[in-house]
Amino acid sequence: MHEPKATGQGSIGREARSSNEEMSATEQGPIAAPKAGILIVDDQEGNLRVLEGLLEDIGTEIVTATSGSQALSRLLDREFAVVLLDVRMPGMDGFETAELIRKRRRSRHVPIIFVTAIDDDIEHIAKGYAVGAVDYIMKPLNGDILRSKVRVFVELYQKSRELADKTVELTQKNEVLEKEIRKRERVERILSKSRDFYLALFDEFPTLVWRSDEDGRISYFNRSWLAFVGQNLEQEKQDGWAHAIHPEDRERCLAVYAASFQNREPFELEYRQKRKDGEYRWILNHGRPYRNLDGGFAGFIGSCADITLRRQSEEETRAANAELEAFSYTVSHDLRAPLRSMAGFCQILVEDYQEGKPIDGNWKEYVERIAQAARQMDALIRDLLSFSRLARDRVDLAPIGLEPLLEEVVAEMRLEGHPVVIEETSASVVGNRVLLSQIFTNLISNALKFVPAGETPRVRLMAEPGADGLVRTWVEDNGIGIASEYHEKIFQVFERLNDASAYPGTGIGLAIVRRAAGRMGGRVGVESVEGKGSRFWLELPRADRGDRPRAAGVADPSRRE
Ligand code: ADP
Repeated sequence: MHEPKATGQGSIGREARSSNEEMSATEQGPIAAPKAGILIVDDQEGNLRVLEGLLEDIGTEIVTATSGSQALSRLLDREFAVVLLDVRMPGMDGFETAELIRKRRRSRHVPIIFVTAIDDDIEHIAKGYAVGAVDYIMKPLNGDILRSKVRVFVELYQKSRELADKTVELTQKNEVLEKEIRKRERVERILSKSRDFYLALFDEFPTLVWRSDEDGRISYFNRSWLAFVGQNLEQEKQDGWAHAIHPEDRERCLAVYAASFQNREPFELEYRQKRKDGEYRWILNHGRPYRNLDGGFAGFIGSCADITLRRQSEEETRAANAELEAFSYTVSHDLRAPLRSMAGFCQILVEDYQEGKPIDGNWKEYVERIAQAARQMDALIRDLLSFSRLARDRVDLAPIGLEPLLEEVVAEMRLEGHPVVIEETSASVVGNRVLLSQIFTNLISNALKFVPAGETPRVRLMAEPGADGLVRTWVEDNGIGIASEYHEKIFQVFERLNDASAYPGTGIGLAIVRRAAGRMGGRVGVESVEGKGSRFWLELPRADRGDRPRAAGVADPSRRE
């Protein structure tokens, strides 16, 4: 069934033109790409032309079909924003065509507007909606209504196309982002692995290694460090590095660290740090700023070395130098004294007994004074040589019974009439016979010598084994005693407290005693009150504890004369 088209055509054309004139530029303006096609389906060529004419202002491509089957094949070729479908067509009518359009996957969602005569009843209209129509347009056609309806669908199509494009674009961007994220995650993993590797490497370092963060807090201590302080990482991080620093060094260390950190400058610090056994060790700590992979400041990293031995040997060298200095001063002074005396008396002899002058009683005394100075000189040189030899000679150690050794030492003294009492001395020590004789000869001679004039010396010897595996041997006298401020001093070379005429000597004896004791791994000291006698002691390892003879070996290289 076909409605008369001519009337409709004419009126449509006029309406279209007049409404175009009234429309605003924007409303009339062509819709932007992508181009959305309009498919017009009508068996009447004339109707097709009219519709084409009415819709050309929309600015999108218009495709026509003169039958249902032609429409279906057009829909196979491409997409359309909307299909205007004539209801009444010979063969396959609009409803059948709409049904088939809906059935096909490709065209399932394309909007269909039925174009039908105004006289179609309501039943027809309902059927149209049932088969998938989105709208109806009645003939005779109103150009404005037709265009605005079609325009809505064209815009809808374009919007959904744009949306689809945007979705594709977004999906692509998303993929790129995901790739980037995966790449970063991979790099992160590699970085963290390499970080772990370097930390593991630091852990193996034999020196103490630490690292601080940008804020200056120390967040890493290597295994050597933790073993040194005897704490685990968490405890050490909690307590901070300063807790083990010696209280006297702490403030200085913290100030240097804070200043270096602020200026991002390397630092070197020497301080005492407590080891897990409670002993303070000298530490040399080198710290320097380090950068992360981006080149930004990341904190400080540092390593510490135990320099206690170096400090000790520096200390010893300093002491040895001071001793050497004092030694050369006193040597020259003490050696020159007898020389000056000899020269003086020779001069007197020359002046007093020039040719022709008779020799008188003084002559003998002058010569005697010269001989005495020569003897003093000889004693000084002999003692100095023996002190010097003590630093170089090899010292063999062996168990030695104290009693027979002391008996031997005092035998000669007793012959000379000196009273020396040997009390409990049954212990044996690890020592060197020659050195021990030298030590006791010196100590006992002093004990006999330094008594107030007219007093009979009384000397007692005794040995006292201690629980610590050491034996203390005492030489006690009733002599003049020594003020406490000299208890250490008297063991230095040429340190003498008394007038040489009352108590002759070289001032080297106690220096020999201390050096000899040291060579055997022992110690000496004195307990004394001025005027109340003295108790000199020598401490050596006990021999009856399974100790075997051994060699204290080589000469002590730190000693120089
Ligand atoms: P010397 O006996 O040749 O003077 P030493 O080195 O043996 O030198 O002793 C150093 C100094 O120590 C002595 O000059 C003396 O002042 C003091 N001294 C040593 N032994 C005793 C002692 N038993 N009683 C008091 N003073 C002593």
